[in-house]
Amino acid sequence: MNILVLNSGSSSAKYRFYEMETEKCLCWGLVERIGSRGALMSHNRHDGNNLKKAIEIPDHAGAIESIIEVLLSPEHGVIEDKNNIDAIGHRVVHGGEKFSGSVLIDDEVMKQLYECIELAPLHNPHNIKGIMACREMLNDKPQVAVFDTAFHQGIPDYAYLYALPYSLYKKYGLRRYGFHGTSHRYVADRAAAMMDNPVENLKLITCHLGNGCSIAAVKNGVSIDTSMGFTPVEGLIMGTRCGDIDPAALLYIMSREDLGNSEANSLINKHSGLYGISGLSNDMREIESEALAGNSRAEVALDMFCYRIRKYIGAYAFAMGGVDGIVFTGGIGENSYEVRTRTLNELKLLNIELDPEKNKNRDTSERFIDFGRGVRTMVIPTNEELVIARDSIELIQG
Ligand code: AMP
Repeated sequence: MNILVLNSGSSSAKYRFYEMETEKCLCWGLVERIGSRGALMSHNRHDGNNLKKAIEIPDHAGAIESIIEVLLSPEHGVIEDKNNIDAIGHRVVHGGEKFSGSVLIDDEVMKQLYECIELAPLHNPHNIKGIMACREMLNDKPQVAVFDTAFHQGIPDYAYLYALPYSLYKKYGLRRYGFHGTSHRYVADRAAAMMDNPVENLKLITCHLGNGCSIAAVKNGVSIDTSMGFTPVEGLIMGTRCGDIDPAALLYIMSREDLGNSEANSLINKHSGLYGISGLSNDMREIESEALAGNSRAEVALDMFCYRIRKYIGAYAFAMGGVDGIVFTGGIGENSYEVRTRTLNELKLLNIELDPEKNKNRDTSERFIDFGRGVRTMVIPTNEELVIARDSIELIQG
């Protein structure tokens, strides 16, 4: 069986194509700048037969059409017939309170997906466009929606509610939803496999540190708390997002700087975080090299970033009544030994002790980075697309 995994964003569509008997990714790629001049397709086949070409792509339907075309292409493709696509798995950012797991898409699900748009107006409409285009072009093929929020639907009310008037929760669904759920779920499962212990027996803290960052407390296989909230702005410091701040500070800035809603939104989403503090970049590689070269604002940005993660780790260890394992994933979590060191140094008291040699090792596979005792610490490359493909197979096979 073959699964096409799609992640449709505002101006891009990422895809991966899996052969599921072996879970091998046969090809993957990206269509960028949909709807503008200079749209580009990058396609990579597992054997290194790659393609990069400029194309005219007016909309998401055009993007899906060109993805199907390249899958079928005699030179760069991996299948001979559209019928070799058995199902399509879609990443959907927000499932609200309606979806606590992945679902086969039917008309009722479509209706509910439209209802979730108001919770994620910048993301869900584009995810829906991808689904609609596939329904049009591959209309007899089952489609599955896998939600970034679903894994966090196990969070109890005392952790997901904000201490605002309860009526606002009832009226607008204003609560913590959390994101990156597919990644947290994948790495928690992998950590359990590495620890040779069922995830149902473990208390895990999973740190997804990429351009967006979030952390989750996964107790007995269920997410019981996570740092992102109603939107992805809350929680950890990120590339350009501020994470936790005093909400009254934002009101103050809006008033002093005469900012409207959209400018304030842009301030906390696009001009803050590592970029805002350092004034240099949202890219951790640059922050690290500048910090090590003595740039004091890069240094404080790096310290703030790690200190915030450390505080959450402490909080989640207490929230779960202990911790058995800590996982680092995402571009920063997987690659930055500096961030892992600053976050977890001198925690022998909590039975957390990194092995500096293993931590520095640039190996890209999943691995332990500790001495093999106490709280286990791991680096696990995330694989959200594989989870989407697996969920799709599971749902279509009933
Ligand atoms: P992602 O969103 O998961 O692709 O992660 C992007 C982030 O990972 C960016 O901030 C990159 O700077 C960071 N990153 C990638 N490689 C490294 C590295 N070798 N060291 C530190 N950060 C890295």
